[in-house]
Amino acid sequence: MFGYLEQIVFIIIFSFFGFLIFRRSKTIYRNISLGKKEYKSFNNRSEKIKNVLLLALGQKKMFKKIIPAILHLLIYVGFILINIEVLEIILDGVFGTHRVFASIFNNSYHYVISFFEFLAILVIISCVFFSIRRNILKIDRFQKVELFGWPNLDANIILIAEIILMVAILTMNAADLSLQSVNSENYTKTGLFYFSNYLTPMLNGFDESQLIFIERTAWWIHIVGIFSFALYVTYSKHLHIFLAFPNTYHANNEPLGKMKNMPEITSEINMMLGDANNTEVQEQTINRFGAKDISDLSWKNLLDAYSCTECGRCTEECPANLTGKKLSPRKIMMDTRDRAEEYGKILDQNGNPEIKNFLLDSYVTREEINACTSCNACTEACPININPLEIILELRRYVALEESKAPNEWNMMFQNIETNFSPWKFPIEDRFKWNKENE
Ligand code: SF4
Ligand code: SF4
Repeated sequence: MFGYLEQIVFIIIFSFFGFLIFRRSKTIYRNISLGKKEYKSFNNRSEKIKNVLLLALGQKKMFKKIIPAILHLLIYVGFILINIEVLEIILDGVFGTHRVFASIFNNSYHYVISFFEFLAILVIISCVFFSIRRNILKIDRFQKVELFGWPNLDANIILIAEIILMVAILTMNAADLSLQSVNSENYTKTGLFYFSNYLTPMLNGFDESQLIFIERTAWWIHIVGIFSFALYVTYSKHLHIFLAFPNTYHANNEPLGKMKNMPEITSEINMMLGDANNTEVQEQTINRFGAKDISDLSWKNLLDAYSCTECGRCTEECPANLTGKKLSPRKIMMDTRDRAEEYGKILDQNGNPEIKNFLLDSYVTREEINACTSCNACTEACPININPLEIILELRRYVALEESKAPNEWNMMFQNIETNFSPWKFPIEDRFKWNKENE
């Protein structure tokens, strides 16, 4: 089917995109590895696998909003299954064949392709629905300030790209059917493709060479589109298509709102109490308490940031955001990812990433972190168990412990807890006086 030249061009394009995707994946892996190694998931292996099956594959938490959940699932399943056809296209491209799976599936081939076409139509419908929802209905969580500009454009680019890819499949199949009907050489009979068949009347006026041109053009648009899409995804929020799996695998099913102890502080206290053997970090050099930049966070915090879909379900539930404060947990995740990208780029240029910018102040402001009530509603709402609170707490710990710049009211409270064992300024023995006075 293919001329040698077409085969060579295909192999060059395929290798070129393969190389770019591999290089970008290595950069993302390196950026995530910039985080501290100390994170450990407390789940056992079966809990981890259950998380992946329920949250990433089954999208369980998405079903709190039933219609978007079903449409999201359709896009997801449709897109994954349609990629089986991509495998066929790649094999055809490399070996110069045409519809190589037709001889494997024999009489069932047209059922398989018709099923893919059905999924393609569902993907188109879902993408149109999501575009209307985002751009015309303007639902609240897509109108927050952190989405202005590139993030909104990114979401729209992906929706449009998916529609173009699906239309290309249907056009390619319709042109193929037309070529089969005129007994064109190389276009062997496959049986009817049920959905693209409805498009064939539109191709009635074309002669054989024009039909071949249409079929080939749609084929190239589809496959180069898929390669470009795969590369683009690595620069976009749609990276969650892949990272949702490791992220849910490594997530923790701990009680809501449970905060991590700081081993450095635990050790200090144990030492103060004379329990020097019970120090968790005796050998460790402590650079900073809390986090000022991404290198002070754990690799899981950074994996969270790269996995964030920017869906805004966390911000929608955040009481601080709902009462008009500047804090948006989605923005915390987007800022963390943006800073990790910047940090990695400066490292690649052999520079020092911490000369001018830091995650704290350059990206996330103190006003934002101070507005957090530590309620954990964001983590609960997140479809893939991302934990924005953990990052906020680490940034706050840095401000309180390294800079002693926590708000005055907090410092008074800390002092009261230290001296009175309660947030109030009354000595503990006075606290129940009211009770005695009423006896
Ligand atoms: S933990 Fe903080 S950021 Fe998360 S929902 Fe509660 S107030 Fe918002
Ligand atoms: S943290 Fe989770 S809920 Fe929030 S925007 Fe990202 S993916 Fe959505």
